[in-house]
Amino acid sequence: MKKTYDCIFLDRDGTINPDSGYISKLDDFKFFEFTIPALKELSLHGNRFCIVTNQSGVERGLIHQQDLNSIHTFIKSEFKRNQIPLLEIYVCTDHPDNATERRKPGPGMFVDAEAEHDLDLTNCLMVGDSPADIQAGEMLGMETMLVLTGRGKETEKILPDFINPTFTVNNLREGSKLLVQ
Ligand SMILES: [Mg+2]
Repeated sequence: MKKTYDCIFLDRDGTINPDSGYISKLDDFKFFEFTIPALKELSLHGNRFCIVTNQSGVERGLIHQQDLNSIHTFIKSEFKRNQIPLLEIYVCTDHPDNATERRKPGPGMFVDAEAEHDLDLTNCLMVGDSPADIQAGEMLGMETMLVLTGRGKETEKILPDFINPTFTVNNLREGSKLLVQ
């Protein structure tokens, strides 16, 4: 392991699961087939995780809060079953037109995690597929990993020149291999 992070923050859609757009039912949620093995490997090297996810579909009226809760209960149970330490799932349901600082790239969810789990954000990694993921991580002094799943390929094209992910990998599995080598 190059290093063990205080916490690895994971975006959800497009990073740990295929992003079919506003996933509103548990039946429509599935992990990428490599997600659990990748996270398991990282956890065996002492890493633990938080999920940080923008879910504006709730405020848009496209996702019911209780369905979102069911999906997150499932995610928590799968992490537990595989003995992957998950500190918390942080969710921001804000509509982009009326967003608080909790909505990525705002710092709100990360600052909450920092306080609630006594984290040093400068010793954390943010993994995601969207510009907002990489921007949030960089602004908070975290290392960042852009995955080219989900919107990642598009993100690579549109990221401003001054934002450089620490790592760019095809997917989370490649990322975990890179980090533990
Ligand atoms: Mg995403």
